[in-house]
Amino acid sequence: MAKKYILALDQGTTSSRAILFDAKAQIVATAQQEFEQIFPKPGWVEHDANEILKSVYNTAMDVMKKNSVPAEEIDSIGITNQRETTIVWNKKTGFPVYNAIVWQDRRTSGTVDALKAAGHEELFMKKTGLVLDAYFSGTKVKWILDHVEGARQLAERGELIFGTVDTWLIWNLTRRRSHVTDVSNACRTLMYNIQTGDWDDELLDILEIPRAMLPEVRPTSSDFGEASSGLFGSRIPIASAVGDQQSATFGNLCLQPGTIKNTYGTGCFLMLNAGKEVVYSKNNLLSTVGWLRDGHQTTYCLEGSVFMGGALVQWLRDGLKIIDSAPEIEALALTEKDNGGVYFIPAFAGLGAPYWDSYARGSMFGLTRGVTRGHIARAALEAIALQVQDVFSAMQSDVDFEINLLRVDGGASKNNTLMQLQSDLLGIRIERPENIETTALGATFMAGLKTGFFESADQIAEFSTIDKVFEPKMPHAQREDILGNWKRAIERSKGWIQP
Ligand code: ADP
Repeated sequence: MAKKYILALDQGTTSSRAILFDAKAQIVATAQQEFEQIFPKPGWVEHDANEILKSVYNTAMDVMKKNSVPAEEIDSIGITNQRETTIVWNKKTGFPVYNAIVWQDRRTSGTVDALKAAGHEELFMKKTGLVLDAYFSGTKVKWILDHVEGARQLAERGELIFGTVDTWLIWNLTRRRSHVTDVSNACRTLMYNIQTGDWDDELLDILEIPRAMLPEVRPTSSDFGEASSGLFGSRIPIASAVGDQQSATFGNLCLQPGTIKNTYGTGCFLMLNAGKEVVYSKNNLLSTVGWLRDGHQTTYCLEGSVFMGGALVQWLRDGLKIIDSAPEIEALALTEKDNGGVYFIPAFAGLGAPYWDSYARGSMFGLTRGVTRGHIARAALEAIALQVQDVFSAMQSDVDFEINLLRVDGGASKNNTLMQLQSDLLGIRIERPENIETTALGATFMAGLKTGFFESADQIAEFSTIDKVFEPKMPHAQREDILGNWKRAIERSKGWIQP
């Protein structure tokens, strides 16, 4: 039977989605299922790993059945996933020994502080490209080994194995045949050396994690095994696995060094294709592996994120209740011609890159009797764009070439007013693709390029059409004024809560 589709499995933080893409990389059908977020204590976030698995099976079956697509018509599976989330399971029984500890989970902050106090920060930065933080998998694995009874002994005997979500899915989809991960996921664990391209024994010693637990690291597009016929009715090769942000970068066609994308979702994620060598940041941004296509060289990226992106709009909707739905913010912002002097610092959870102040808190400056809901809506959109501008400037100063185009995606990128503001504040052109589902698209491209379903990177570039272009048009003086006021407001929001 002719191969007509690629099945993308997009395993996210709050839901799993299965999307069928055709030979022109167009979406044919989608299925989605949410799953439970478990919050056992303040700062702790878990998922049931088996529920994640079920949601992936369900959505895959759903999208195939509803559209009468048999497994024989599927060329391959591409997997993209929430990164850093940590699962440890028993290789004999197949049962996780603990819930998946989600990337957002802060329970290992103390361990991280101890590692910093012991002077390990620079070593980790050099070897992994990451800042030492509870966000990444390393200290989460250690926590499970230290807190689940008997876990450490079993791990040392090679009976417990570790994986990020890609690894967990592939191990189960292949009926336990493949214990593997890809470089874009491995590099988010604090255990993987981005210079040598392998797990690092020195870091594993420091973290007290037995190497026997770790999956084999493969290129992003490669042969990860076959999804079992017992599940799908016929075997389907798994041809890619890629972390969600790297996938969005590839899917948004940032294939050449110097190209950059920003995803406007709950948070904002900027990712710059830095080329074939690791670029270290002087501004606390992350150096990360973008991807490695089988038979090609590794592409490295610089990454910076903003905690409160679209989440700020959610807060105006659910907290302040000045809008009923997220898209309404645009019309509200357009009721005023400017911000009326209002600056909104969304440091609800402290300030991230490039300020890194966990004691800063959200604040609004410049309030007068004349301030309206419209001004606040406008200040909120500006705040999203200004935070992105801060990370962008940090990135620009880390590289020796000029960045002159931003590609965008994510739910809030549909907001034209926000995109125009962004272009004005960055002073560069913005391109928004027709298909903003770039996360699933990246894994699809990777899988199809591996199997030959797609011919070449040039061909996939032709599949993507630009929906809208934004050019900077704000007068220079106005831009300088906004940037200056923003900086003053940032300074005043710093150090608000008492340690
Ligand atoms: P995620 O994948 O992080 O859940 P999405 O890419 O689905 O995020 O984008 C949803 C986010 O974008 C929400 O935080 C929502 O508040 C925001 N959002 C959606 N539409 C708009 C809009 N038109 N203008 C501004 N923000 C929006």
